[in-house]
Amino acid sequence: MNRKKNYFKRKAVLLNKHDKESVIVPLLEESTGLKIVVEKSYDTDLFGTFTKEISRKGSQMEAARLKAQKGMELTGLDIGISSEGIFGSHPVIPFVPWNYEIVLFVDKREGNEIIGESGTTATNYDYIVTDDYKELEEFAEKILFPSHFIVLRPDDEKHNSIIKGISSLKSLREAFDWGMKKSMNNKVFVEPDTRAFANPTRMENIKEATYNLIKKMESICPNCSTPGFAIVDNKAGLPCECCGNPTKEILTRVYICKKCAHIEEKRVEDSSASAGRCMFCNP
Ligand SMILES: [Zn+2]
Ligand SMILES: [Zn+2]
Repeated sequence: MNRKKNYFKRKAVLLNKHDKESVIVPLLEESTGLKIVVEKSYDTDLFGTFTKEISRKGSQMEAARLKAQKGMELTGLDIGISSEGIFGSHPVIPFVPWNYEIVLFVDKREGNEIIGESGTTATNYDYIVTDDYKELEEFAEKILFPSHFIVLRPDDEKHNSIIKGISSLKSLREAFDWGMKKSMNNKVFVEPDTRAFANPTRMENIKEATYNLIKKMESICPNCSTPGFAIVDNKAGLPCECCGNPTKEILTRVYICKKCAHIEEKRVEDSSASAGRCMFCNP
């Protein structure tokens, strides 16, 4: 048995509807030893969807916890896994599209929760409001259609009628005609279908979040041996290579165990920061 397979022979449930299991399950099973059951009987859209018919309840993290909980409830298993993503603009750089994915691991028996995460600007998220089919086709090409599917509504993003999963030029044309006919202001609102199976770029980011989760699950608390000994904070102060004064670059990473609250600070590998990052040498 691989020393790293901390969850050898334990069973977990992944509550899921949109084929995310194809990336999450094999990676997690292989590296942790878990046996994962995929539970599809529950409509996870009830927790809120990307396509706006149902507004998201609570934060992304709360939604992920609800899904993990629901999966355990439905199956009676004591490990729940879930995945939840958001699209918006970059937290620091305005107007830059941003996709942030969480893959959550909840171990009810051991009272442990581990969060895999990945944020990226590599997303095709964008939208268009148009009455011009030519313009729509150009937009479609820009957002990587048809490998990435499209969602279309009459009027604007709030309209109740919607066509999802548009994946061919023929169906795009039909959806456009349908939307224009239903529209009050003679325009359609179009954006990428961000459900995982309809969006390979998003699927890639879910994969990254899964790798991040695995890395944390393999990190063991030196005090109580609980998996998930993860970085919670970074402390700045890496000394400048020239003058030795502290810079804003990271000097230590702070690890904490959620179970026993053991804390450890680990120094980064770099011995110094470049003078370009120093406010004395490069004010
Ligand atoms: Zn611990
Ligand atoms: Zn300096």
